[in-house]
Amino acid sequence: PAAEVLYRREAEHAIGQPVGDLLGSSAIDEHGGIRAGEQMHHRADGTEIPVSVSVAPLRDDVGEPTGSVAVCTDLTERVERRAAEARYASVVASLDEGVIVIGPGGELTSVNESAQRLMGAWVVPNIHINRLLHQAPMITEYGAALDADDHPVARALRTGQAQRRVIVGIDDGGPRRWFSTSARPLVEEGGSAGSVVWTFLEITDRKRVEDELSFQATHDPLTRLPNRDVLIAALTDAAGPACANGTKVAVLVFDLDRFKTINDTFGHAVGDRVLQTIATRTAAVIRPDDRLGRLAGDEFIVVSPGLRDEADATALAHRINDAVSGPFRLPSGRELVVTPSIGIAFLSDQDTSPEVVLSHADVAMYRSKERGRARTEVFDHELRAAVSRKLLVHEALRSAVDTRAIVGHFQPIADAVSGTIVGVEVLARWEHPTLGSIPPDEFIPIAEDTALMPVLGAWILETACAQMAQWQRAGKCGSDQMLHVNLSPRQLTDPGFADIVMHALSSTGLRADQLWLEVTESILMEEGSDVAGALDTLRGIGVHFAIDDFGTGYSSLAYLKRFPVEALKIDRSFVEGLGEDPESTAIVEAIVRLAQSLHLETVAEGVETEAQARHLRAMGCDRIQGYLVARPAPAHQVDFGSHTFDAD
Ligand code: C2E
Ligand code: CA
Ligand code: CA
Repeated sequence: PAAEVLYRREAEHAIGQPVGDLLGSSAIDEHGGIRAGEQMHHRADGTEIPVSVSVAPLRDDVGEPTGSVAVCTDLTERVERRAAEARYASVVASLDEGVIVIGPGGELTSVNESAQRLMGAWVVPNIHINRLLHQAPMITEYGAALDADDHPVARALRTGQAQRRVIVGIDDGGPRRWFSTSARPLVEEGGSAGSVVWTFLEITDRKRVEDELSFQATHDPLTRLPNRDVLIAALTDAAGPACANGTKVAVLVFDLDRFKTINDTFGHAVGDRVLQTIATRTAAVIRPDDRLGRLAGDEFIVVSPGLRDEADATALAHRINDAVSGPFRLPSGRELVVTPSIGIAFLSDQDTSPEVVLSHADVAMYRSKERGRARTEVFDHELRAAVSRKLLVHEALRSAVDTRAIVGHFQPIADAVSGTIVGVEVLARWEHPTLGSIPPDEFIPIAEDTALMPVLGAWILETACAQMAQWQRAGKCGSDQMLHVNLSPRQLTDPGFADIVMHALSSTGLRADQLWLEVTESILMEEGSDVAGALDTLRGIGVHFAIDDFGTGYSSLAYLKRFPVEALKIDRSFVEGLGEDPESTAIVEAIVRLAQSLHLETVAEGVETEAQARHLRAMGCDRIQGYLVARPAPAHQVDFGSHTFDAD
């Protein structure tokens, strides 16, 4: 019956037929006997069937052959499995992935071509896995040394657990190579466990791209230094150990004095070279544990852990200062010296947030600049007090702006010869219920640093215009008298500023040519914004512009021609020394002459004595303002009556 199933032929039809007719001619040999071994036989329906044939002769009692018995086993399944295995083997052989099978004893049982290509031709079956694992030093994805016992293959062999896509690097001194590696226990059907399939794909190129991308995200492309985020993280990391062993962690922040001038004068290519050189020079003088980074522009940061005391930090600052201050040779052969202003702050119990410590180092750096640059300052009690006062004033200022608690006082400006009052300047005044009187020199910069200035500025402008218009209607002053209003940088760079001024004028009825806006030199140097556009628009409708605090800023003649400016206000600091300090006297004289040659008016601020007024008149200064004429006063006390000078 088995034969009937195999050959799909019923016994009764087969009996008596020649074997060759039944199973096909290839089933018999030239003597008519059945061939043994693996053969192809025919079924009744003509299809072929692979069989394994064993043949035994049949003999009679005396040993004469009478026939043979053939036992035929169906090989269909085995042949198919063999074909599948062959296909599988050729697929494994052609994989980009290296595939190595390791037996339970650690010997390799199969190795594909890619495995040999990636690991070397010496990797062949029967060698031991340990030879491969000890071939070259290995590292983890993050660059730490990887022990052979921790390799995914070793783990899979030891634990029987699959290890998936672990990144392993080979660091044999040449360029690092990276592999994505998996190791899975192989459980053979019915077979014993313990074999492991190890597959690996080389990802060196992909890793290089990924590493470069993450480097770019955390580093500054120009100097290749880590960025702010990295340094903040380094500062966070340093806090724990410092707490444990009682050492100090310092943050040093420095920027380059007058770097903008270098960029403007020599071009950005030179500026970039300077920054790169500063980075290299600084890197050379910090200690191995210190981290150097670039914050922005010409601002650098060093996080320095493990310091014994403040002196260690200042010593580091001095080394940085010396390194940075060395001369640069420009391509033209010219030498350039840049100096750093350095601020230092320490991580302390009170200031655990890295952001706060960084801001303190910044505050200290600004004091270095204020105190004359090329210095080092430490964030101390005094600066801490200043910072908290600033916070206090900032909070109070917010509500003062909301409740209109800041009001304008007015200070007259007189003709230097006749004493006639030609106008008034509005000066902001703030009386706080508990903090007392807070001077504008304190709150205007705070309003500037925050978003409060545009609102505060617009409020002062509008109320002053309204006051002036009302005085005029009441006959207290004439339409030839002027209103001076101070502007801060934030106002003029606000794109809606021209509209704000026009609105203040139209809503109060004050004529545009009665309004003078006082701007500082720094506003005119502002980069990127359309200051000139705003000035031209307003000058176009009749508004006048004066430069405030003239002589204290950049004093570049270029902008006097570029902007529609009509007057210079000579700063109080020069007027103070008039007639006593030869230098101040010379400066005032020079400013007046300069103004005359450019057809600009001059207004001297802070005139307190008759002697100062006399000097100014003699020099040809047009107008004067100061305690000699009148102090700033609330609106109801302002007097427009002419001032009488003592006879010369
Ligand atoms: P500034 O524009 O140079 O104003 C002149 C400053 O000198 C005023 O100080 C004024 O009170 C003071 N002063 C006037 N005459 C004399 C004098 O004879 N002797 C002395 N010792 N001082 C005199 P104040 O009011 O404290 O203002 C300081 C600065 O605050 C101003 O300097 C100005 O830059 C700014 N400021 C004041 N009000 C405003 C404002 O409404 N907006 C803006 N943006 N800034 C303002
Ligand atoms: Ca002013
Ligand atoms: Ca001034």
